[in-house]
Amino acid sequence: MIEPSKVKDAFNRIEAENYAFRAYLKNHADENELDKQFLKLHKELFVSYDCSKCRNCCKEYSASFKKDELDPVSVFLKMTENNFIEKYINQEFGDYQLKVKPCCFLKEDGGCEIETCKPNSCRDYPYTDKPERLFSLLSIVESTRICPVVFEMFERLKDKYKFKRIK
Ligand code: SF4
Ligand code: SF4
Repeated sequence: MIEPSKVKDAFNRIEAENYAFRAYLKNHADENELDKQFLKLHKELFVSYDCSKCRNCCKEYSASFKKDELDPVSVFLKMTENNFIEKYINQEFGDYQLKVKPCCFLKEDGGCEIETCKPNSCRDYPYTDKPERLFSLLSIVESTRICPVVFEMFERLKDKYKFKRIK
């Protein structure tokens, strides 16, 4: 598995290939089969991967809260919901996105300060165990730039589909 600090450079070298593979999958992959393949790789690779040693997603994306996720985190931080929004949230794009990245709740040791009430957008990332991956391939390619595990998944899928790599 590639080092978290090296994934961006590795992606830059094969960006065109990853987009070409995305187009290949769009045209050749069976929707249900592809979901099964992603799910299998997700389980295989994440079971032994220590995300606290990476946290690229916490550094590169702004966590996004649903309305009903604001109360638990505000209570946890001993704040009112309005104070939480005022202090941490940017509502420019209509949802409740953290103002800053890297995430202000990312701890030195790679832990999450709000682990017990972090939003589903954090829990579910990188979504490779979710259905309908054929329709989310653009965001999966984007994740191959950030996430070493998704980078590895894509490489293994290229082998599985005998995809001709760009030299
Ligand atoms: S989900 Fe991916 S990017 Fe996020 S911490 Fe785990 S390996 Fe790193
Ligand atoms: S809330 Fe926690 S899991 Fe989500 S981005 Fe911040 S540190 Fe990472």
